[in-house]
Amino acid sequence: MEFIREYADWFYLIGAVLFILTLRGLSGPKTAIQGNRYGMIAMAIAVLTTFFVADNPVVWMIVGAMVLGAVVGIARARTVPMTQMPETVALMHSLVGLAAVLIAVAAIIHNNKLTELGPDLLAANGVDFHQMSRVHLFELFVGCFVGAITFTASVFAYGKLAAKKWAKTISGAWVKPVQAIIFIAMLGFGIHFFLTGNMTSFWAMTGLALAFGWVWIAPVGGGDMPVVVSLLNSFSGWAAAGIGFTLENNMLIVAGSLVGSSGAILSYIMCKAMNRSIINVLFGGAMGGTAVASADAGDKAPRNHRSGSADDAGFLMSNADSVVIVPGYGMAQGRAQNAVKELANLLKEQGVTVRFAIHPVAGRMPGHMNVLLAEADVAYEDILEMDEINSDFPATDVVLVIGANDVVNPAAKDDPNSPIYGMPILEAHKARTIMVIKRSMATGYAGLDNDLFYNDKTMMIFGDAKKVVEDMTKAINGGGH
Ligand code: NDP
Repeated sequence: MEFIREYADWFYLIGAVLFILTLRGLSGPKTAIQGNRYGMIAMAIAVLTTFFVADNPVVWMIVGAMVLGAVVGIARARTVPMTQMPETVALMHSLVGLAAVLIAVAAIIHNNKLTELGPDLLAANGVDFHQMSRVHLFELFVGCFVGAITFTASVFAYGKLAAKKWAKTISGAWVKPVQAIIFIAMLGFGIHFFLTGNMTSFWAMTGLALAFGWVWIAPVGGGDMPVVVSLLNSFSGWAAAGIGFTLENNMLIVAGSLVGSSGAILSYIMCKAMNRSIINVLFGGAMGGTAVASADAGDKAPRNHRSGSADDAGFLMSNADSVVIVPGYGMAQGRAQNAVKELANLLKEQGVTVRFAIHPVAGRMPGHMNVLLAEADVAYEDILEMDEINSDFPATDVVLVIGANDVVNPAAKDDPNSPIYGMPILEAHKARTIMVIKRSMATGYAGLDNDLFYNDKTMMIFGDAKKVVEDMTKAINGGGH
């Protein structure tokens, strides 16, 4: 094992390159599986190298923790449904934050213990000990408070996405001042700790950072949660990088920075897709402005909509030249992706041009629809992003909306009073005929009514996504061109 110790930096370098290849692979559906493989190899290299590099490792503890983590991780990965992925990811981020806090606490307690023993005693026992430098204290201060904020904010994000009762959105004029007071006090104690090494300040800073994570995320509206999760992903990376400095582990610094920057880039892309700024997402709710989930769908007079059967819809589609399918959360919820693929194939066989239109925040996690369609083996070239397909809607004969709601809500374009005004949408309302599969007239995630469902060109087909799509396929098979 001397060999691994001697060439540890080289192993870390190989690991870092593999992590970069992982991100590259994950950026496209065709290369994602290979990207995942690179990630697994890189992680194995990182863990094993660190294990052999550590001074006096407590082997049973490390191996025990790894086995326990692996058992829980594998069990969870095998059972978690795709629809619960976002909250699972949020929960994982919370663990990274917690690890950062615990490592910072351990490093400080360790340092204080050694300081108490005194340099003479340590030297007599051959322990090479240096007081923590300012830089070191700074790393701990930043790593610990970023980790603490990430921890509670991620736990809250998990609760919110999993619709737990305790994860209530808070609002009111008091929220912003409270956020500001906690944040300033946290920084004040942190700076005091950094300047003096005072432990009371350290504990106060950590406690306030934990509280801040909560009050910071609690006012954020439900519709903005994907951005928050991606931002917390970024935070967990920076916390890990900070702790990498504390532990003097280059691999952790590189991997943490990669996670930190990729999470930040994803947050930026998502904000752009929603036409929001990151500041507006994070503090908009507290300013009383744009908490999408709290929007009231209620007190409007009943409106008329047109409904039809799967048979009618099948007939119309098989006679169309072009069909664009817009999947949303309901397709995931109803596990309809395979049935949708079969319907698309059948239509293609009948000479219809069929394409899929994907909104960046359709479903409940970034890339949700892409993952499901890839799972169902839909050809990548048939899957188009919002910017690629939006200009084609006016020339499209039929748009088939399957369990999507917010991402096709025209209020985002037409209604300046709507909480989602300004968010780019798939412009399904511009197609010649619109068909919407959902179970009722209920609202989607943002809790908003949708004019698209009352449009003269729209036919609602009520039922579970999978069942309706299968019925459409049967109808086309039975009838045809
Ligand atoms: P929505 O949540 O707006 O709407 C989904 C619709 O699907 C509902 O109106 C529901 O209506 C219908 N539905 C549910 N189950 C079924 C089923 N089994 N069969 C048929 N229909 C069903 O989904 P969108 O994809 O349009 O929008 C995503 C929303 O989620 C956005 O507001 C986004 O901001 C938010 N979000 C996105 C995340 C992401 O990263 N993608 C993460 C977290 C939130 P009914 O009950 O009548 O059937």
